[in-house]
Amino acid sequence: MTKLKGNQKEYDLIVIGGGPSGMMMAGRAGEMGARVLILEKNKGLGTKLQITGGGRCNLTNAEFDIQKFLANFPQSKQFLFSPFSKFSSENTFTFFEKKRLPLVVEARKRVFPESQKANDVFKTLERYVRSGGGEIKTDSQVTKINKENNKIVSVETKKGEKYFAHNFALATGGASASWTGSTGDGFKWLNKLGHTVKEPTANLVPLTTNDRWVHKLSGITLSFMTIRFIQNGKTKLKKTGKILFTHFGVSGPLIINSSFEVKELMKKGHVTASIDMFPDTEENLLDQRVLKLFEKNKNKVIKNILPEILPKKVAQEILQLPDINLLEREVNSITKEERKALVKKMKGLSFDISGTLGLEKSIIADGGIALEEVNFKNMTSKIYPNLYLLGDILNINRPSGGFSLQLCWTTGWVAGSDVGEKLNN
Ligand SMILES: Cc1cc2nc3c(=O)[nH]c(=O)nc-3n(C[C@H](O)[C@H](O)[C@H](O)COP(=O)(O)OP(=O)(O)OC[C@H]3O[C@@H](n4cnc5c(N)ncnc54)[C@H](O)[C@@H]3O)c2cc1C
Repeated sequence: MTKLKGNQKEYDLIVIGGGPSGMMMAGRAGEMGARVLILEKNKGLGTKLQITGGGRCNLTNAEFDIQKFLANFPQSKQFLFSPFSKFSSENTFTFFEKKRLPLVVEARKRVFPESQKANDVFKTLERYVRSGGGEIKTDSQVTKINKENNKIVSVETKKGEKYFAHNFALATGGASASWTGSTGDGFKWLNKLGHTVKEPTANLVPLTTNDRWVHKLSGITLSFMTIRFIQNGKTKLKKTGKILFTHFGVSGPLIINSSFEVKELMKKGHVTASIDMFPDTEENLLDQRVLKLFEKNKNKVIKNILPEILPKKVAQEILQLPDINLLEREVNSITKEERKALVKKMKGLSFDISGTLGLEKSIIADGGIALEEVNFKNMTSKIYPNLYLLGDILNINRPSGGFSLQLCWTTGWVAGSDVGEKLNN
């Protein structure tokens, strides 16, 4: 047992990091009677939480069937059944609504606060922490974690303060958007403590290309298309929906949610993307449509009529591609072969994928502590039973749509409950 000096206080729980997972755990343990301290290095809590969902906070996904919900965690669902059976997305819904934060369900079952303000989610959680008597020390960067055998005993901050507790939680987040405070500190400590940590890389992130015509379409959205990711001549992944062109490549939820698989493919070799702008129309039917358009406008320049069936900027870029090269041509001069090549291009507009944007632009980072080293019944380390591991610190791949924050609520609530139960037993 550590001997405390002078007025040094021992907490039941110290949570390192005041993001959504840390606040949830602190609030839950506090309401069950634990003496809790949150140490947060920023000037306030929940910096990343407040920018989620473009400032609206997609706080969970209203898929209340746990099996179906966990189908979104293909590599980790076997670990997550236990915590999700204790606190699921349905519990999240009730939790926030009971705390007088009305929620709304939008497309793809994404859940937002009715006020459309991430800040309201943040305020609800901060109140939860304070109402349980939790102490919050901001501007308190933890720089050292001290252990005795397989027990964490204290932490030290940059200011030279030392804090003691019976239990500790690493809720320092991952390594995406580090300006919010998630600089991967937890990963470094876990390594030192003897845990296995997979190096974080950008995930849920836009894709990049060096093909200039894509960059030139920056700001254009195709609201219904099919994109195929092709390797060695074979389609490896196919998705239908909306795509946004940017000055570096392509983005939008569909692309962001393909980034993990595309990155995995790129480890094996070159990847090409191919967009079908008319996924519902067979090539021969599209050809007939273009033929009709041509017959109606025989004496016009093609660049002035193609925008009848394609966004103008997209039409212009396609017509300028070296293998099409029709921009200034009068329709009556276009050969059948040239028309067919154009139609083929509209069904398979391809560009090379060069990679993804970096960690700073990613929603999450894949990487983190190996799941085999975590006890998912209570979210503790299997090496240090008084060390809890929450949220983005876990190596869990998932799509966008509220699944990341749900992981924070679930792991935070289960861990907080465990601390409370330890006290009350
Ligand atoms: C732009 C953007 C939009 C997003 N939108 C959504 C969305 O709509 N829905 C969704 O589900 N997910 C979204 N996410 C993902 C989601 O924000 C994260 O999964 C979530 O914030 C992870 O929570 P966390 O508690 O694990 O860590 P974080 O939120 O990263 O919090 C970690 C905290 O620990 C603190 N900390 C770190 N090191 C130390 C230290 N040494 N000492 C003290 N404190 C420390 C940090 O300052 C930070 O406050 C988004 C992410 C981004 C970047």
